Amino acid sequence: MATLGIPQNTIAVLQKYKFNFQKKYGQNFLIDTGVIDRIIEASGITKEDFVLEIGPGIGTMTQYLCERAGEVVAVEIDRNLIPILSETLAEYDNVTVLNEDILKVDINALAWEHTKGKPIKVVANLPYYITTPIIMGLFENRVPIDSITVMVQKEVADRMQVGPGTKDYGALSLAVQYYAKPEIITRVPPNCFIPRPSVGSAVIRLTGHSEAPVHVEDESLMFRVIRASFNQRRKTLVNALNNAPGISLEKEQLQKSLEELGVPATIRGEALSLEQFAELSNIIGKKIGKQRANMEDENGQ
Ligand code: SAM
Repeated sequence: MATLGIPQNTIAVLQKYKFNFQKKYGQNFLIDTGVIDRIIEASGITKEDFVLEIGPGIGTMTQYLCERAGEVVAVEIDRNLIPILSETLAEYDNVTVLNEDILKVDINALAWEHTKGKPIKVVANLPYYITTPIIMGLFENRVPIDSITVMVQKEVADRMQVGPGTKDYGALSLAVQYYAKPEIITRVPPNCFIPRPSVGSAVIRLTGHSEAPVHVEDESLMFRVIRASFNQRRKTLVNALNNAPGISLEKEQLQKSLEELGVPATIRGEALSLEQFAELSNIIGKKIGKQRANMEDENGQ
């Protein structure tokens, strides 16, 4: 294996193909073999695994993945990288490169085609401009996930991992923690990339839950409640939920809901745990159901 993670080798490939970095694609290529080793080790890949890599770049980490995994599919949007990948991955017969936008790929269908339902591992040095849609897309579309081990912006890794009562806590923390267990593996400084990003980075591993960590009657309602709470995070929870889209309860009913949850009426959303959001959405859901039944009675339906 030609080790692309060594800066001189990466530069030689880039020069050979006269490659121009495209800022719009978040292209910051890894040039630190120590960091790549940490990512590979944290992902715990074996020959039994199917791995999806998002944004292989010139194939630096892809080479390591091909050595360790049973099969690798790498999805790269930039067509100028495709001829480079053909050369850098030429010696591997367990990799497929797709020249696609990952946000437009039906990952469920792709995974099913290769694993017939066995959970997959996702490994990537992500393009930071689409970190949240990529991660949430994997979870919300119910792609069978074993783990996601990815490089992200440092602040985003922090947001995924924190709990209530901290400034970084928000809708992303709750969504990620509902689907997976997040663990920050290591911080990565800008000098591990070419070109250097203007922000710090971190590798985070999200291990999919085998069972949902909380009981939720209506997932989409819970996420509406969460989004409404953090859209106006300076307001009290009651005021943030009042008039929020898809939560059709009067203020008084919302106050009663918080009473039932056993928290003060003046509480803010950022103080609630995932368990409390789940319980609150179950309480709100029941009240909305009752309200609807009453209205139907009144209308003689
Ligand atoms: N994995 C390489 C590495 O570590 O050196 C490159 C990582 S670079 C941060 C992100 C990569 O994702 C780039 O190769 C970029 O072209 C690709 N990319 C950006 N947007 C994408 C998209 N929507 N779908 C697929 N790949 C994308």
